[in-house]
Amino acid sequence: MHEGVIVNRLSFPNGDLLLRLVSPEGTLQTVARKVHRPGGRGARLSLFHHVRYQSYHRPASDLPTLTQVELLFRLEGLSAPGRYLCASFLGELAYALSSPESAEGIWPVFTSGLRGIATQDEPRIPLLWAAWRVIAAAGLAPRLESRCGHPGEMLELNGGLACASCATASSVYLGMAGVQSLVDILTRPGQEAVQTLVAAPIDRLMRALLRHSQVHVGGLRSAALLEQVRF
Ligand SMILES: [Zn+2]
Repeated sequence: MHEGVIVNRLSFPNGDLLLRLVSPEGTLQTVARKVHRPGGRGARLSLFHHVRYQSYHRPASDLPTLTQVELLFRLEGLSAPGRYLCASFLGELAYALSSPESAEGIWPVFTSGLRGIATQDEPRIPLLWAAWRVIAAAGLAPRLESRCGHPGEMLELNGGLACASCATASSVYLGMAGVQSLVDILTRPGQEAVQTLVAAPIDRLMRALLRHSQVHVGGLRSAALLEQVRF
């Protein structure tokens, strides 16, 4: 049996589900046939459910089919709009970046980020921490030394820091405090980094996260919505 978290769910008229999962081994896109789904608590297979599963890929078919699935864990609290979008973005990001090589490093950050998003007052704090750490686990973190030698204030979209005068036009303003937060997120232990973020410029850090992931990961559907929602 394997374990994973459902990050995308599409239902077909016949009751089958197309699911995307992030797991400690990578990602899985699979079909859950209605006839095979067990009744009871796990039967709905909702977004962000943490499940244990077995799948079978018949050689001639496009996608593997779930042959067994059971609900391990369900996070309460992710249905509030802001939390839901934060969790969706983190799920999309983890799905895009979990390769067989990076998945083992992404998994613990991803799952603990989801727990934080479900429970903390400001869900963008655990999102910022987890999303940047997922990006780092995939080898796509920005360089933390200022490129120009002056104190860094801007995140350049090629993945580095520079001062406001030297930074390229497309850079995102973080300010000294935002840069310090980014350094904390990427270098300090999780609990410690999250505590420092309580006083951090969250809006700027979010903008930098969204731009950086757009350039280095690609367009994620929840990114645009995340920019519009009021926290
Ligand atoms: Zn400079």
